[in-house]
Amino acid sequence: MQIDINGARIVADLNSLAQFSDTEPPSITRIVYSESDQRARAWLKEQCLAAGLAVREDALGNLFARWQGSEPDSGAVGTGSHIDAIPHSGRYDGTAGVIGALEAIRALRQAGFKPRKSLELLAFISEEPTRFGIGCLGSRMISGTLTHENALVLKDRQDQSLDAVRHAAGFTGKLASVKLPAGYYSSFVELHIEQGPILEQEGVSLGVVTSIAAPAALRVVIEGEGGHAGAVLMPQRRDAFLGAAEIALAVEAAVLATGAIDTVGTCGLVEVFPGLANSIPSRVRLELDVRDTDLARRNAVLEKISLACDAVAAKRKLRIASTTLNADAPASCGPEVIAALEDAAKGEGISYRRMISRAYHDSLFMSRIAPTAMLFIPCKGGVSHRPDEDAAPQDLANGARVLARTLAALAS
Ligand SMILES: [Zn+2]
Repeated sequence: MQIDINGARIVADLNSLAQFSDTEPPSITRIVYSESDQRARAWLKEQCLAAGLAVREDALGNLFARWQGSEPDSGAVGTGSHIDAIPHSGRYDGTAGVIGALEAIRALRQAGFKPRKSLELLAFISEEPTRFGIGCLGSRMISGTLTHENALVLKDRQDQSLDAVRHAAGFTGKLASVKLPAGYYSSFVELHIEQGPILEQEGVSLGVVTSIAAPAALRVVIEGEGGHAGAVLMPQRRDAFLGAAEIALAVEAAVLATGAIDTVGTCGLVEVFPGLANSIPSRVRLELDVRDTDLARRNAVLEKISLACDAVAAKRKLRIASTTLNADAPASCGPEVIAALEDAAKGEGISYRRMISRAYHDSLFMSRIAPTAMLFIPCKGGVSHRPDEDAAPQDLANGARVLARTLAALAS
């Protein structure tokens, strides 16, 4: 089968989509359920219909565009990504995977391919946590990772509930219906820009993702006793910040002790009260993020951090309470999808390497309900979430071509 990918059409479509933005080009801002997001969605629906696909939206706004196979009752082969964009970002994050998948499907139709399993393009809603503070909202609900009861308590910064905002955007069905039935997908593939520099640095055209790292985030509140920076002598102090400093170093030590390059830890938020140079810190809020591709290893790090908190509390006579903000499990990609991607890359004579996704994506949650893998294309300088985010037309076309061949194999 000869697959003709129209690279110019991918670029033109990405440029069309980039027009739906709340900031001036090249910057893109497309927050979920905003007018720009709704207009982008309407445009995408038109393109899917024009490609001959059957379009539906669920109660949250996930968009499905289906090419029915000859065995419509078999689990479908899914592909797609997201079209929402954080403020002042670029035009390729997520969109490359949606437009690339659309082009792959168009090329397969043109080539006369007849799918046995249905092929379905999926544009996830609210992959970015910008509005509701939680990433991958659409795929979390599709996979049942986030229940409709827990979704109902979500609010945006204007204190509007998710339920109110989605209704206003025209999505009025029951949230309980968003979770897909078991076996809905037989496999899932997401094309995405790498958002890192490895492919470009190594001169490799594609990345076949074998596992997706996932973060656990903790909030640690440390309470001691405030006082005058001159009057209270050192032996009498219960300085909350010194406790936080010890915990931060314990995080680093616990991460380094795994000896694994894939374990990373960050204490990115420290709020000190009352926050004056001449006042002993009485309270500190510390938020930290630990990521790994291996769940057991990451949990062992979290356990060490918890022990360190107890030890610091005892040693410095502090009250320390930690709360888990989220702890998504990392994912191993589906071996059959990885194999299909590698076969497709070899068949097309396009260089690839296996790699790990250190950012997480909707695929992390899709992997809970179907064998899933990702295909990365290089992005200039590894830059993402910035207006100068860039991907070469040739790389976009390579991604779509290998995706098309992979989808064909999985749907045959
Ligand atoms: Zn993305």
